[in-house]
This record gives sequence, structure tokens and C-alpha cells, in this order.
Amino acid sequence: MIEIKTYVTNKKEELKNKIKKLNKIPKIVIVQVNDDPASNSYIKGKIKDLTEVGFLYEHIKLDLKTTEEDLLKLVEKLNNDNDVDGFIVQLPLPKQISEEKIKLAISPKKDVDGFNPLSKTIPATPFGIYNYLKDNNFAFKGKNALVIGRSNIVGKPMAKLLLDNDMNVTVVHSKTSLEDMKFYIKHADLIVVAVGKEGFLSNKFEFNKNCVIIDVGINRGVDGKLHGDATPNLDVKFQSPVPGGVGLLTRLALLLNLLEVTNNEF
Ligand code: NAP
Repeated sequence: MIEIKTYVTNKKEELKNKIKKLNKIPKIVIVQVNDDPASNSYIKGKIKDLTEVGFLYEHIKLDLKTTEEDLLKLVEKLNNDNDVDGFIVQLPLPKQISEEKIKLAISPKKDVDGFNPLSKTIPATPFGIYNYLKDNNFAFKGKNALVIGRSNIVGKPMAKLLLDNDMNVTVVHSKTSLEDMKFYIKHADLIVVAVGKEGFLSNKFEFNKNCVIIDVGINRGVDGKLHGDATPNLDVKFQSPVPGGVGLLTRLALLLNLLEVTNNEF
């Protein structure tokens, strides 16, 4: 498997060249209704990526007291604005606003995050992981996939995507017994771990030597550094690093989703 950093750099270069050839440069709007440090840093990363590949962007930061009605109005305005190709409503939203209502209000045509169930776009983290595996000729068909975690943004869409690619998919979660967990881990050809617990996947488990582990977890360790859900250097064929792994793939997938929602043809 190609190193993720190199893979992402190459893919971004390809994107840059495609964008240069477009008649109209796609524009994305990022709406933020929080002052969350993690969101600020994600948005900073997104803006860096967007400018790097040559997209136009606008960052709208709203007051924390914004009402649901006002945010719905803005979503409607963006849905109908022909100058805007796609937009993101950064989560989390303040308590007075229903995330579900906002997600459903985003037009599937402009839904960069794949929030609306009617959208063709796939949430960026699973989409990024899938693209990486596919581009590395991972043989999905008939192989055993284990998805650890069942969140709406990672576990569930990941499981669906792998199932759609003919894998035998098992999804485990906090109610899975340790005995079953050990069994599924041992028989997995691919493990996508998205639990949010440092060191969850360790050599206390037995792995299939040909197993590929994709580590989604981002955990701030006691050392102040970022750590994945898996301990490094497990005895498997490939393990994605943290940092420098799924985070980069997610950011790349977001750019690809933006391209998907534009009406431009390539
Ligand atoms: P989440 O919504 O908190 O879901 C965590 C999942 O893990 C839940 O389904 C939970 O099971 C399961 N779980 C918790 N403890 C478990 C245990 N002991 N054994 C088995 N399963 C367990 O988290 P998320 O949003 O999916 O994110 C997961 C991690 O990925 C976090 O560290 C997050 O920061 C990271 N993340 C990274 C990226 C990226 O771009 N790299 C993107 C998204 C998320 P239940 O459903 O039973 O509670």
C-alpha cells in the first residue's frame, strides 16, 4: 500500500490540474455556528486544502445564538444560489438547532458532506478510506471486513460501502462481547476501527497476518500527542498511521465530493 501522505499529495496534484482546466471554478461555502476548537482546526484544514487545489471558498461564521429558523433560511439561500456549487454546515451546532433538520434541509445537489440520505455523495471519512483501498487494488470481493464502531458518520456508512463492494461485513460495537470481538478480529481481512479509544486495538488480539487495519480514531493522549485506536506496529500486512492517515484521506474525499456536486464535466 502506498504511503498515505504520498497518495494524498499525488491525488491533490491531479485535482489541481483538473480544476485548472475548468471553465468555471467551483465555489464552496463553509457555514460555522460554533466556536469549537476542533471545528476551527478542521475548517482551517479544509480552507488550506481548498485554496491549495484552486477552489473558491467562503467561510460564514454565525453568532452562537443563531436560531434554527435563521440557519434554515441560510441553507435555503445557499441551496438556491447559482454561484455556490456546494456547502458544508460544520457540526456540532448549538443546542437550539436540530442537526437532523439542517441535514435534511441541505439540497442533495450541494451536499458536500453527504448528510442528506438522498445525496449521492458519501460521508468523507468512509469515502476517503474506500478510495484509498480501491486505488491500492485492495481485493474487496468475498473478503471479511470488520467495522468496529457504528456511528452515523463513520461505522454505518463504512459498512454499507464495503458491503456494496461485495465484502462480508461484520459491525461490532460497545455491546459486543470480548470473546466475539476476538473471533471477528482474528478472521478479518480488513479492520476499520472507529471507536475513539486510544490503544483499543492492541496485540492482546490475534490478527490475520494479511489483515489491513484502517485506524480512524483520533485521541489526544496523556503525552499531548494524537493517537489512533490501534497501538502502532501490530503484526499485520498494513496499518494506517495516526496522524498522517485517515485524517488526510477524509480531507481529500471532501475535495472529491465537492467536485462531485459541481455541475462541471470532466
Ligand atoms: P462515536 O460516534 O463516538 O462512535 C464510537 C463507536 O464506537 C460507537 O458505535 C460505540 O459503540 C463504539 N465503541 C465504544 N466503545 C467501544 C468498545 N469498548 N468496544 C467496541 N465498540 C466501542 O465516534 P465516531 O464519530 O465514529 O468517531 C470514532 C473515532 O474516530 C473518534 O476518535 C473520532 O475522533 C475519530 N474520527 C476521525 C475522523 C478522521 O477524519 N480521521 C473522522 C471521524 C471520526 P455504541 O454504538 O455501542 O456506543
